Amino acid sequence: MDLFDKLIKKSGPLKDYALSSEGYYMFPKLEGEIGPRMHFQGKPVITWSLNDYLGLANRPDVRKVDTEATAKWGLAYPMGARMMSGQTDLHQQLERELAAFEGKESAFLLNYGYQGIMSIVHSLVDRHDVIVYDYEAHASIVDGVSLHIGKRFVYQHNDMESFKKALDKATRVIEETGGAILVITEGVYGMRGDQGKIKEIVSFKKDYNFRLLIDDAHGFGTLGPNGQGASFEQGVQDEVDIYFATFAKSMAMIGAFVASKKEIILHLQYTMRSQIFAKSLPMPFVESALYRLNIFRSSTEQKDKLWKVVNAMQSGLKAVGYEIGVTNSPVTPVYLKGSIEDARNIVEEMREKYGIFTSMVVYPVIPKGMIILRIIPTAAHTMQDVEETLVAFEKMKPFIKALESNS
Ligand code: PMP
Repeated sequence: MDLFDKLIKKSGPLKDYALSSEGYYMFPKLEGEIGPRMHFQGKPVITWSLNDYLGLANRPDVRKVDTEATAKWGLAYPMGARMMSGQTDLHQQLERELAAFEGKESAFLLNYGYQGIMSIVHSLVDRHDVIVYDYEAHASIVDGVSLHIGKRFVYQHNDMESFKKALDKATRVIEETGGAILVITEGVYGMRGDQGKIKEIVSFKKDYNFRLLIDDAHGFGTLGPNGQGASFEQGVQDEVDIYFATFAKSMAMIGAFVASKKEIILHLQYTMRSQIFAKSLPMPFVESALYRLNIFRSSTEQKDKLWKVVNAMQSGLKAVGYEIGVTNSPVTPVYLKGSIEDARNIVEEMREKYGIFTSMVVYPVIPKGMIILRIIPTAAHTMQDVEETLVAFEKMKPFIKALESNS
């Protein structure tokens, strides 16, 4: 059989669905300056689906630094991987500053979050070791785990009884293999918005021997006194052995970093295939990340603005009668019931009638029959944006009820 023929025929829930929705539900184009008010298919919308948590993407001072850094360095410098020809003082300075910000000895810059976390997982364990990780872990963690040739045990999402069982099993395995245990959780789970139970997980350290890696993509910038993240917020940063975050959300750019003990960062620098065999992060990103980090450190203004919007949105949605689950982060899921068709109708009605742009999450990302409208508040949103959106949600209730009662 010809490979292309096979692929063209191949179906899958996401692909089948995508083909009939492209440009509207899948790959929609949001146009205009990044911010709470953009254009979708020529019409103005209030956007609630951008992870620009701190509203930095389009802040004039940030844009100026981005532009000047690009003019100064171009996009190429430095050429090559860090290890070969891509090392610079500025990369090292950013690493020192990120390590200090996270209260860790050392840090290593990564050119992308996704490949970064995959490669970290791959570098940390060998066939004798066991990985214990959360059922709702992000795809990049799951892909990292899939590179592991030893055993792995998954525990039910944020369920500490299930976690203990997985740890018991992992402990039995390493007693035989002589290996070690790596536990992985997220700082904030990006669909439900609940923080990983880092504090409870680290409390198991007194009875079990494991090292803890956290992926804090959504917590970095939004939680902790100055945005140091979920483990700071929960007061257990010292017990987190390896801290990872991406620049793709609160930093509103690209890149990522990992922070830990000096010797572990050294190990990662010499073993992470995604960094040894890939180009170093270009200079404008490094310079702009330093500037953004300084914003985190020097004031909590953006974070405070974000939380004001988050609190207004979350309490407003509850007051209007919507179910938002157990979020304790800015990620705000609105839980509804219905088919994929219902989800499309709701999203279309929101966009066309009320000018509200949210992302929707449906099967196969979540179980069949469940719909999540995912709302991401940012520091750039105003109370007016929140009010208009809440009015729209209020007016949408009969429409949603009718769909739910038919399904
Ligand atoms: N981990 C988590 C939890 C994420 O949500 C994401 C998506 N941004 C990534 C890793 C990948 O990061 P990046 O976009 O920087 O590749």
